Amino acid sequence: MLDIDKIRADFPILKREVNGKPLVYFDNAATSQTPQVVIDAIVDYYSNYNANIHRGVHTLSQEATDKYEEARLKIQKHFNAKKSYEIIFTSGTTHSINIVATGFSSLLKKGDEVIVSALEHHSNIVPWQMLCERTGAILKVIPMNQDGELVMNEYDKLLSDKTKIVFVNHISNALGTINPIEEIIEKAHKVGAAVLIDGAQACPHIKPDVQALNADFYVASAHKIYGPTGVGILYGKEEWLNKLPPYQGGGEMIKEVTFEKTTYADLPHKFEAGTPNICGGIAFGAAIDYANSIGFENIQEREKELLDYATEKLLEIDGLKIYGTSKNKTSVISFNIEGIHPYDIGTIVDKLGIAVRTGHHCAQPIMDFYKIPGTVRASFSFYNTKEEIDSLVEAVKKAKMMLS
Ligand code: PMP
Repeated sequence: MLDIDKIRADFPILKREVNGKPLVYFDNAATSQTPQVVIDAIVDYYSNYNANIHRGVHTLSQEATDKYEEARLKIQKHFNAKKSYEIIFTSGTTHSINIVATGFSSLLKKGDEVIVSALEHHSNIVPWQMLCERTGAILKVIPMNQDGELVMNEYDKLLSDKTKIVFVNHISNALGTINPIEEIIEKAHKVGAAVLIDGAQACPHIKPDVQALNADFYVASAHKIYGPTGVGILYGKEEWLNKLPPYQGGGEMIKEVTFEKTTYADLPHKFEAGTPNICGGIAFGAAIDYANSIGFENIQEREKELLDYATEKLLEIDGLKIYGTSKNKTSVISFNIEGIHPYDIGTIVDKLGIAVRTGHHCAQPIMDFYKIPGTVRASFSFYNTKEEIDSLVEAVKKAKMMLS
């Protein structure tokens, strides 16, 4: 059992008020909150050893390099990557996906096929569409059902020896559905296709084992896992990272530069051009340590309790419909109330200090599937409480009364 009062004290922001009410933060799927240990790591970096890494002989530069590489090792261990250089620091999930999608330009030809799922965030759709425009490859889509689950027998029909890469999220940000990625990966490999898993939404809830999953690429953002914004990772199997060309040219990513020819640095530096988000990488490591100190089993148990409680209480509201009703889902509730625009509900509950997200959640195809403009999305983290859920339910009832 987690000591929730003690855990809440780790997050300074949870003490603040919004519009004169205690903050209730239910926008965790967009960005999770940051514990004091991560804030301390950021302050420590800028207070004590802020310096550029990898190319300095002076003490500060060496200290910063050591801490940054230590963070890479922590992340390697957390994701169970075979080699530390299979972890590339990026600015986040979007950047990571773009590195792979752009790199695949040199591996695809006209008529090749790539497969996406109907449940994707725009950042795991648009870079691949751009890839298809560049190469003449064809984008195929695994459809979804009313519960917000992927229709797996349709996936089987899409796969063929023309399939070169499949890219799906581990967990849908708009609905919370946990996708059967083990099956998706295994079946893709049978036809010789690579698989990229967008783990942005999974990492706050699940500790992914990239070797057990046999994922070719796995991508994530630190800000979803109690870390800072502007930093994330691309995990790639060594053989795939070696096959892909560099994404950006610049300092740090070279072995030797002459005006005749440049040779590229070894992994991971080949994909890490320019000065990285050094402090962000170090803070990402601190966030991973924090999440592991809470324990992912504890996180899952707590969030399941919050999800079940909130689902039951919200469904007591007349006219409220939840989208994403898979049994296999994380602590995300996307809902609407008949006849009311989600934006209006979001605005009223904010006046009561409650942060939810409204809109299409960067997943317009899902909204089109349900023929709705968007939803209200409440997403819970282990530091949330049932009392906060009660406040949300009361606030939604009030909004309904005001707007009906
Ligand atoms: N994929 C999913 C499933 C997401 O939820 C998000 C963030 N909402 C992203 C990709 C993009 O992450 P970032 O904005 O950190 O690059």
